[in-house]
Amino acid sequence: MEDFRHKGQRRRMTEQLRAAFGFDERILEAMNKIPRHLFVDKGMQHLAYSDKPLAIAANQTISRPFTVAMQTHLLDIKKRDKVLEIGTGCGYQTAVLAELGARVYSIERQRALYEHAQRILPALQYQVSLFYGDGYAGKPVLAPFHKIIVTCGSPDIPQQLKTQLAVGGRMVIPVGEDSQTMTVVDRVTENDYQITTHGACNFVPMLEGTMK
Ligand code: SAH
Repeated sequence: MEDFRHKGQRRRMTEQLRAAFGFDERILEAMNKIPRHLFVDKGMQHLAYSDKPLAIAANQTISRPFTVAMQTHLLDIKKRDKVLEIGTGCGYQTAVLAELGARVYSIERQRALYEHAQRILPALQYQVSLFYGDGYAGKPVLAPFHKIIVTCGSPDIPQQLKTQLAVGGRMVIPVGEDSQTMTVVDRVTENDYQITTHGACNFVPMLEGTMK
């Protein structure tokens, strides 16, 4: 499952991330700890620590480590933060958030990916709440959230998600269709949101409904 090679590759990955951008040590430590190779298909494990997006089941991709670190950085996670994630995918970003002490609720629309995450995350001792459903609706019964992270490209900022942010809360979301702009939405007061942008990015699209 885990051998010395993976440890070495993981250390190299976090060193490259540190050199590329001044990420918080807590983020690098979390990523240095999580066995990313266990989140990808067997045939891809040797690529798990390269800074590339990788194909996962259901024609989806696992974000490259730099993107995971950047979204996590922008989220500014505090211990015990209640976090909603849209797009569980392979569950790696979910694990990073949990490792940082967040209480994570994550929604995935592809059943196969949801089921995979249901197996791997508890097996690695991460206690997170996973849901199979359409993330466009968020999770109103569990709102408000301190943080919301969207890991697929949304054509716009879904109103439903904005209103599930706590006042003082923050959403990190790639906005755009063919390519996206990493966008941070801060809920400043009940009715005021402040929007800042953080460069171009490329995500698989956020789609409506669910897939069996
Ligand atoms: N953080 C994940 C990213 C996976 S790619 C990882 O690193 O593995 C984005 C995921 O968003 C895909 O699994 C896709 O199925 C999912 N997705 C797209 N639209 C969605 C929606 N409306 N609700 C929930 N998940 C969605």
